[in-house]
Amino acid sequence: MSLAREEIVKGLVNILGEDRVITDETVLKESSIDRYRKFEQCHEVYTQPIPAAVVYVKSTEEVRDVLMFANENGVNVVPRTGHSAIEGGLETALENSVVIDGSEMNQVLNVNTESMQVTCQCGVPLQSLEDSLREQGLTTGHSPQSKPLAQMGGLVATRSIGQFSTLYGGIEDMLVGCEVVFPGGQVCRIKNVPRRSVGPDIRHIVLGNEGALCFITEVTVKIFKYQPENNRFLGYRIKDMEKGFQALRQVMVEGYRPSVARLYDLQDAEMNFDWADGENVLLFMAEGPASITKATAEGIDEIVRKIEGVTPVDASLIETWFNHLNWGAEQIAQEKKEILATDNIGITTEISGCWDCIYKIYASVVERITNEVPDLTMIGGHSSHSYINGTNMYFVYYYNVVDCKPEDEINKYHNLINRIICEETVRFGGSIAHHHGLGKARAHYVWEEYGSSFYMLETLKHAFDPNGVMNMGTLIPVKHDKEHPWNF
Ligand SMILES: Cc1cc2nc3c(=O)[nH]c(=O)nc-3n(C[C@H](O)[C@H](O)[C@H](O)COP(=O)(O)OP(=O)(O)OC[C@H]3O[C@@H](n4cnc5c(N)ncnc54)[C@H](O)[C@@H]3O)c2cc1C
Repeated sequence: MSLAREEIVKGLVNILGEDRVITDETVLKESSIDRYRKFEQCHEVYTQPIPAAVVYVKSTEEVRDVLMFANENGVNVVPRTGHSAIEGGLETALENSVVIDGSEMNQVLNVNTESMQVTCQCGVPLQSLEDSLREQGLTTGHSPQSKPLAQMGGLVATRSIGQFSTLYGGIEDMLVGCEVVFPGGQVCRIKNVPRRSVGPDIRHIVLGNEGALCFITEVTVKIFKYQPENNRFLGYRIKDMEKGFQALRQVMVEGYRPSVARLYDLQDAEMNFDWADGENVLLFMAEGPASITKATAEGIDEIVRKIEGVTPVDASLIETWFNHLNWGAEQIAQEKKEILATDNIGITTEISGCWDCIYKIYASVVERITNEVPDLTMIGGHSSHSYINGTNMYFVYYYNVVDCKPEDEINKYHNLINRIICEETVRFGGSIAHHHGLGKARAHYVWEEYGSSFYMLETLKHAFDPNGVMNMGTLIPVKHDKEHPWNF
């Protein structure tokens, strides 16, 4: 039998004291959703169950005590750090949930310049960590567009990736060790070593768990030398998108490791580069020691110039563009103003696929969305993270919200578009989420995504969260309507 709202609040106050248990109605409403419901958020319309409280934890012991209280009393909890989620991971899907906010666990605990790793609590903002490392000539190499917003716990929990991933990898390549707490109260530490062969790599139970298995309290990530003076930039217009994918593939297959390798289709290019001139855009950046960046830039340039329909552009155009790429509170406030003024909204969905299917996914998604989605004003996208065997596609779409209440927008447009993207991606053999996580937005397609390996995910969920109190609805949906999978 679950507790009443007042009993939940009383239990939390007993653990944390009154000042760290927030029950203010506005805060609770704002904490019931994330940017997946951006249109509702802009209109201050809240359709999801409102949590019983938002609690601010300051130590591993407090996390443990709150989790044990929730676990014993069947209270759903939603872990949170930077609050920049965009796939519904922060939605409180069940009545009387508790949002556990780790943003006050914000201490950098150790910068180890000999073993080149930094240890910090879950609430350390990536931007401040990166700023302080750069002053010491160091970098994490992690640079998601949300760097001004996201914090270390959330970055690990979502399997995030940054703009320089082609050199440094995603967060899974950076995470060395961590401390996490499970709902039964078990505090587990995965120690920091360069590699191990002692059974399965259990870091991957933590990475991407999206708050549905455990609460991450501390992380250790690698650090690298920061040498911006050696950076090299390359930019090109390219007439044909399929040839653009071939260019990216060739650069990777020939063994080059640029930190950035991006391909914009002409619709997305038009929004980003005033010099695109109706063509697709390819761009690269090389980082590291001067001899390596020189060889990388020259090698890539030689490959790309041989491809039909390519026109090189001035490298300084790429550098200038890069310096204005990230989003913080200011850009989000500006976007809200524009959405309210125009009823035109822009959203993104990212997927991945091997080289043999990525163009097919891209082309069929664009075709279907163009034909099937009403009131569309733009559909396009870019590839921004490449590997030896494939790349991602980051679909960008805008539509006018017409004759529709704020609470109906998500089903009329956003979920319809997500469904098309997921269907086409699975049809051609890709993955439905490259780096934003499944959240609650794409959890409905988890069976289609995992196939026979869903058994492994489900078993993990049952084993680590037997009472089902960790972020219900994330990774695995609370309920699933096979007839209308996008209607949630
Ligand atoms: C403008 C913008 C640009 C973005 N660009 C990128 C990008 O380039 N690359 C990218 O990867 N993502 C990007 N994102 C998505 C988002 O920033 C990432 O998913 C980020 O990793 C979330 O971190 P956070 O600290 O804000 O986590 P939150 O938003 O607080 O939480 C995200 C998820 O992680 C869980 N979680 C949070 N903290 C913990 C914890 N301590 N323990 C367990 N679970 C936890 C939550 O329950 C939720 O499911 C972008 C978002 C925005 C708004």
